[in-house]
Amino acid sequence: MIYIIEFDSKFMYFWSDLRSYHLHIKGIVQGVGFRPFVYKLANEYNLKGWVNNSTDGVHIHLNTDQRGAEKFLKLLETNLPPLAVITASTIKELVYQKHQNFEIIHSENDAKPNLLLTPDAAICDDCKEELHQSVDRRYKYPFITCTNCGPRYSIINKLPYDRPFTTMNPFKMCEVCQTEYDNPLERRHYSQTNSCHDCAIEMQLFENGKLEENFTNLEYIIQKWLAGKIIAIKGIGGYLLTCDATNSEAIKILRKRKKRPTKPFALMYRDYKMVSGDVQISEAEKKELTSTHAPIVLLERKTIIKNLLPIELINNNLSRIGIMLPYTPLYELLLKKFGKPIIATSANITDSTIIYTDKKALEELTAIADVILLNNREIVLPQDDGVIQFTKKHQQKITLRRSRGKAPTYINPKLKVPEETVFAAGAMLKSVFGLMNMENVYVSQYMGNTSSYDAQLNYEHTFTHFKNIFSTEIDSVVVDKHPDYFATRFGKELALKNEATLVELQHHKAHFYSVLGENNLLDCNKNILGVIWDGTGLGDDQNIWGGEFFMYADKTIKRVNHVDEFEFILGDKMPREPKISALAIAHKVSGSENYLKHKFTTTEWSIYQKLLNKEDNLKSTSMGRLFDAVSSILFNFDIHSFEAEASMQLENEAAKYYYENDMTLKDSYLSEENDYSNFIEHLLEVIIKDLDRSIDKSYIAAKFHITLVDYIIRIATKLHVRKIAFSGGVFQNALLVDLIIEYMKEKNEIYFQNEFSPNDEGIPFGQLMYISYR
Ligand SMILES: [Zn+2]
Ligand SMILES: [Zn+2]
Repeated sequence: MIYIIEFDSKFMYFWSDLRSYHLHIKGIVQGVGFRPFVYKLANEYNLKGWVNNSTDGVHIHLNTDQRGAEKFLKLLETNLPPLAVITASTIKELVYQKHQNFEIIHSENDAKPNLLLTPDAAICDDCKEELHQSVDRRYKYPFITCTNCGPRYSIINKLPYDRPFTTMNPFKMCEVCQTEYDNPLERRHYSQTNSCHDCAIEMQLFENGKLEENFTNLEYIIQKWLAGKIIAIKGIGGYLLTCDATNSEAIKILRKRKKRPTKPFALMYRDYKMVSGDVQISEAEKKELTSTHAPIVLLERKTIIKNLLPIELINNNLSRIGIMLPYTPLYELLLKKFGKPIIATSANITDSTIIYTDKKALEELTAIADVILLNNREIVLPQDDGVIQFTKKHQQKITLRRSRGKAPTYINPKLKVPEETVFAAGAMLKSVFGLMNMENVYVSQYMGNTSSYDAQLNYEHTFTHFKNIFSTEIDSVVVDKHPDYFATRFGKELALKNEATLVELQHHKAHFYSVLGENNLLDCNKNILGVIWDGTGLGDDQNIWGGEFFMYADKTIKRVNHVDEFEFILGDKMPREPKISALAIAHKVSGSENYLKHKFTTTEWSIYQKLLNKEDNLKSTSMGRLFDAVSSILFNFDIHSFEAEASMQLENEAAKYYYENDMTLKDSYLSEENDYSNFIEHLLEVIIKDLDRSIDKSYIAAKFHITLVDYIIRIATKLHVRKIAFSGGVFQNALLVDLIIEYMKEKNEIYFQNEFSPNDEGIPFGQLMYISYR
């Protein structure tokens, strides 16, 4: 039979249905309404055949000819459902099979899973509308979802993504929900998270450790917030601790109970309109804030804040505030009712994993939260909220934490991915691991700092989960050179158990591979300079590196320069106490005593002096410590109450000055003739001279940032290299990144991390890239 189909308004297309074709589609195609979408499209064009979900993607059989199959694929690609992504597709002719209609079918498939996992998604606009529509049958239902939104990765036990394999399994759909689920014309056709008031996910409320029988509706929570109570609420990736963001007393109590004296808290605002009242917001920032991954975005506060009272209690006097929008229907309902912003911070003990099981919440959160709001849908994998920011002038995106909504899927079709299964163990402070399996790349969510036992357990739990989901054996393992990292030990044991190849990769080289991989530069035949600056990483010479210049040429990395070495003393105390960095870096600079001595007791001073004069000290080139030192000398940020506090404050002061004044590269502390040898000593000397002359400290801080860019330019020029890639935790500094773009963009090709963080979260991806391109 010959059919006439109008594929688009321009032409008519004739095809015959006497042949059969198979389309195999890979990518993010499960849990995103893909099968109903194919079904609808096939019916629209009167095509016969079937579609199914399998462990290796979506399969479609069509009775059509080659051109018809190609056209159909094109139609799929151009009209995808919002959460779907196609990364690969094939078309193959089959032996002719006659079909009477087009169906969604189920088929058993024992093949090893070869799929990208679908990340969790924020509530969609359609669901939001229904949620607030009094005539809708899901009016005010706190767990409304559809095929375009809701939890995915966090509730999946097994592939393919079908309800029995998720933590929705215990919930039996009511008749109406089942009808929606079965009806191909419904938005909730095959929506695995489907439920409603009649077959509801149920909430329970505990107050002061006791089950509150009188809790019937969300008004209860509003009253508690108004009364200044701390409330722990179970969301998608785990529990958040919340309180009224306009209530100083409540915030103080939360800080005290959480033992978090100064670290900024993230906020959740009712809606975009309210956010824009308090912060300046660019198009790019708005796009991220309102995206399906709904991260925390660090936004520049306005001088007058309308909706927050104790701003300094929230953000420790930084000019940026971390804000997110309600991403679950429960938060949407609560925030709409409350009308004011809330503090919304991960419920965890410092550095450990976010709490995500009800049992642990009741055991551990009762000491912090007055009220705990549970629900009986289990979370399989915990995830914190993602965090991103953009630089002020050039709007370069900087990922600070890649987590809920993004993890664990990474898509970059240009990457060369080997067939072997590779596990990349990552580093320590920001624990994340990577896995390459069947040519897919996965990078886990942030799992905490693995110096905490809890985070170690979570690391193991997440790894076991991945291993079960993909039922895979590991062929190769990549670890950091640091033998004492939990991740390194874990990786080594794993390699031993699996008889897998074990590869060690130096920390900063992994950072470099990460930024090269993301920018598809690993096959580039021009030399690329890597500026890799961070706090700590074990170097090839057993010293503590962190101010590195590498050259990538002929597929290998060479260390071509580094900042001057200084004494690394007192072990872990040094990164915790910036004043020790100040002492170690500046003690030989004349006049520095005036700015250092008062920070120490007489005994400390004499012991530390002796230590510094020892011959066998470890040496360090850490840029992170240089930032600490300058922050301590200028602003007396002497002891960290959270990681990187001193350098954040230094950046903040510098940015305030830089963006309001006319500064140029000429404000660098390096003079024309300075050949940047003894760079650090020279830098500290001039800073101390400026302090002696009582120059504005924020101006000095801004000059310090500009000097670093000047230093990079001089080294790049001397090495005759134009392509420059930046990675390492220092490049979370938005001012520094803006300055690099401002002063280097014209004459150079510059590359930053985008999707991955420049901090140690980016390491496992770099470790994977090393294996792919070695
Ligand atoms: Zn929805
Ligand atoms: Zn129902």
